[in-house]
Amino acid sequence: MKVGIIGSGFVGSTTAYALTLKNVASEIVLIDIDRKLAIAHAEDILHATPFSHTVKIYAGDYEDLRDAKVVVIAAGVAQRPGETRLQLLDRNTEVFRQIIPRLLKFAPDDLVIVVVTNPVDVMTQITTKISGLPPERVIGSGTILDTARFKSLLAKHLGVSPKSVHAYVVGEHGDSEVLVWSSARVGGLKLDKVAEKLGKPLDDETKQKIDNEVRYAAYKIIDGKGATYFGIAAGVSAIVEAIRDNEGMVMTLSILNEDVEGIKDVALSLPRIVGWEGVKTTLYPDLSDEERNKLRKSAEILKQAAMELGF
Ligand code: ADP
Repeated sequence: MKVGIIGSGFVGSTTAYALTLKNVASEIVLIDIDRKLAIAHAEDILHATPFSHTVKIYAGDYEDLRDAKVVVIAAGVAQRPGETRLQLLDRNTEVFRQIIPRLLKFAPDDLVIVVVTNPVDVMTQITTKISGLPPERVIGSGTILDTARFKSLLAKHLGVSPKSVHAYVVGEHGDSEVLVWSSARVGGLKLDKVAEKLGKPLDDETKQKIDNEVRYAAYKIIDGKGATYFGIAAGVSAIVEAIRDNEGMVMTLSILNEDVEGIKDVALSLPRIVGWEGVKTTLYPDLSDEERNKLRKSAEILKQAAMELGF
């Protein structure tokens, strides 16, 4: 399967590397406004192929997207000193206005776009509107990593495999995200029941600690190394694999929703079944009243941001 990546910075190039090591794509095109950077990353990753898998990877242009089933958008501009969040978003919107018509000109009819650029929910909303594609084919990476982190912290606390934990983070990929404690399950049983049985109760303090670690994980990483890219690249690679294999995997991803808790037309993450055509179905989770309120607040924040940009 051919995959295009637009924006070959930290996230784009690491995604290409993850796709290569995991043998997810047979052909990868790297596109960047900084052509030299795209060429350098393509060559560097090509040198990893004798030790991994035979992947045709090269720096290209939009016409090289001709038969790309999936195009990952990781392009964006960096925040300037003194620039507000909205000004930055405005400039990123301009970048997307340039990119999307160009990619649509060459991409196939069954294209799935995976948006990774932050703030990912707003950028997903913008991409859906500009492209005019059905929402299920414009997928934002959303809370895929937040959910992974939630599962792994719960697993660590309980001393079980994260694969046996079913728990989701929904809403914004960011400060207003919602950890859905009420319907978390381990081995088919309610989380609290399992925690009690294992003698590892989840008191309020422990829950708050896990919540903080999930919600603010990126800040800590950015403080230490300036950017995050390994985790998200592995997540994007898993999304592309789920599309390629028509796997039916459940992942928390952002798409434009008709209605979330009364807020219309807003992109945010919910658990979704992923396959060849993108998102096949959304599995709206059972929520407590408190979680429902938090999700509505998250939707309001995102809706407001999209409206300020005119979407
Ligand atoms: P991140 O850490 O999110 O990957 P980077 O700044 O490393 O951020 O990467 C963003 C990339 O997007 C840069 O390599 C930049 O050159 C690229 N980019 C910016 N504008 C465009 C554009 N209009 N078309 C293609 N790539 C772009």
